[in-house]
Amino acid sequence: MKEIEELKENIEADLKAVQTLEELQEVKAKYLGKKGLLTQALKRIKDIPPQQRREYGQGVNRLKAFLEAELKKRQEAIRERELESKLRREWIDLTVPIKPPFGSLHPITQTLERILRIFVGMGFSVEEGPEIELEDYNFDRLNIPKEHPARDMQDTFYVNREGYLLRTHTSPVQIRTMLSQKPPIQMVAPGKVYRRDDDPTHSPMFHQVEGLVVNRHANFKHMKFVIEEFLREFFQTDLPVRFRTSYFPFTEPSAEVDIGCVICDAQGCRVCKDTGWLEVMGCGMVHPNVLESCGLDSEIYQGFAFGMGVERLAMLLYGIDNIKLFYENDIRFLRQF
Ligand SMILES: [Zn+2]
Repeated sequence: MKEIEELKENIEADLKAVQTLEELQEVKAKYLGKKGLLTQALKRIKDIPPQQRREYGQGVNRLKAFLEAELKKRQEAIRERELESKLRREWIDLTVPIKPPFGSLHPITQTLERILRIFVGMGFSVEEGPEIELEDYNFDRLNIPKEHPARDMQDTFYVNREGYLLRTHTSPVQIRTMLSQKPPIQMVAPGKVYRRDDDPTHSPMFHQVEGLVVNRHANFKHMKFVIEEFLREFFQTDLPVRFRTSYFPFTEPSAEVDIGCVICDAQGCRVCKDTGWLEVMGCGMVHPNVLESCGLDSEIYQGFAFGMGVERLAMLLYGIDNIKLFYENDIRFLRQF
C-alpha cells in the first residue's frame, strides 16, 4: 500500500508539471504504457500474498481510474488554452473601418469643371450637343459654306452618312441653342471634338469649351471683360492678357487671346517659344450671317463668342508638355491629380 501511495504522489507531481499535449502523452506512457509503472503494478497483483491481494488490486485500479480521469481533464484544459491563444494570435478586428484607396477625377474632367464653375459663377448656362453632328450645324450655318477654304482649316472626320460628321468644334451647340432659345443667351458648351491631327500637342479627340452671349447690346468690351476675368480666375493670378487680330469665318472682328506665359512668368521659354506669350483661345463678335442663319435679326441682336481647348489649358495649368499623357491612363500620372 505504501508503494501505491508513492505512485500516487509521483503521478500528481508529474501531472502538475504538464504544460503541453506532448508532455501529457509522456506522462501517459510513463504510467500506462506497456512497461508503464501502473501497468507493471497491475501485473504484480499475482505476486501479492492472497490476504492483501484484494486491497492492493483495488488500490491500483483506483489509481489507474484516477490517472485516466486526470489525463482527460488535463487534455481538455490544454486544448482549450491552446485554442484561446490561437484565437488571440489570429485576432482580426472586424469593426476596424476599411478605407479603400480613393480614386480621383481625371485631370481633364477637373479642368473642365474648373472652367465651367467660373462661367456658371458669371451667370452662363451649360448646354450640350451631339458629337455626331450635322454638317449644316458644324459648317454651313457658321458662315462656312461648301467650297469655303475655311473647311480646310479643320481636318474633318466624316461619317458614313451624307450630311453628318464628327463635330470639329463645339460651335454647333451655339447654333442649336440659338435655334431653340430666344435671346438673351449666355451659354457655354463643353465637350469632345474631333480633328485629323496627331502630334505631341494635338490629339484627334480633344475637349473644347465655347461660350456665346447674344443680346441687344453685347460688344467687344463685354467680351474682353468676360475673357480676362475668366483667365485670371482660372490661373488664379493677375496675368497679362492681350487680344491679337485674327480671322474666323463665324466672327467679325475676330481675335486670338494671349496670356503672359505662366511657365516662365513671361520671361521666354520653350513652351512660349521665347515670346513670353501663350495663345489660349479664339474669340470675336458673332458674324451677322451666323445670327441670320439661326433666324435672329442681326439689326437687333449682336453677340460675342469664344472658344478654348481644355487640354491646352490643363497642360498650362499643370505644366504638362505632352497631350498624350491625358489619354494613356497611366495610373502613376493620374494619381498626381
Ligand atoms: Zn514661357
